[in-house]
Amino acid sequence: MSTILIIEDEPELVKVLRAYLEQAGFTVLAAYRGDTGLSTWEHKKPDAVILDLNLPGMDGLDVAKEIRRKSSTPILMLTARVEETDQLIGLELGADDYLTKPYSPRLVVARVRALLRRSKQPNEVQNILRAADIEIDLSAHTVYRSGQPIELTPTEFNLLAALAEQPGRAFTRLQLLEACQGTAYAGYERTIDAHIKNLRAKIEPDSKNPTYIETVFGIGYRFTKTSLPVTSSSSG
Ligand code: CA
Repeated sequence: MSTILIIEDEPELVKVLRAYLEQAGFTVLAAYRGDTGLSTWEHKKPDAVILDLNLPGMDGLDVAKEIRRKSSTPILMLTARVEETDQLIGLELGADDYLTKPYSPRLVVARVRALLRRSKQPNEVQNILRAADIEIDLSAHTVYRSGQPIELTPTEFNLLAALAEQPGRAFTRLQLLEACQGTAYAGYERTIDAHIKNLRAKIEPDSKNPTYIETVFGIGYRFTKTSLPVTSSSSG
């Protein structure tokens, strides 16, 4: 069950929103000032925040900025100001969505649901990639092998992430070039070989006999499908 924090200074609006959200199965917390709202957020760590723009104590934009500085909690901004610039500023400062008053409470519930769906997919499910004994944290940009940190350049990191995301799939050099640099030009595919060589030197126990990144002759490379690390002690 998800917890939603409403930060809104009009008690009537809070009451209506609370009723709709609770009926939809959410646990609802409420704060009537920007500053108390922010501290409630800090202490209760709700799954999403519904935030009014005009608030006593601390402006809604500042509350959004503070929340965004520390987390990716989804924020639905409610605004009575219709000027588009304000709406855009709200989004720039980290609100994920906004509604202009007067709004339908049903629409608020639908938007909150959508925000929760969006935030749960990329952030909590897919941010850590595990393949063999390699752990890749896509948001922190860190790589661990058997718990030991491995330092990679951004290109090596992107290359490894692309390969490890689909173990067993053979990638062409051109595909890998595009995955790690965002662009790919035919004729430069061989630069991938240099990156692979450097990457192997960092992640393979024996880079002469690579067990994580396999060469697919005539195609390119693939990440091993072996679920457990293949060490030199295993026979073969
Ligand atoms: Ca207000």
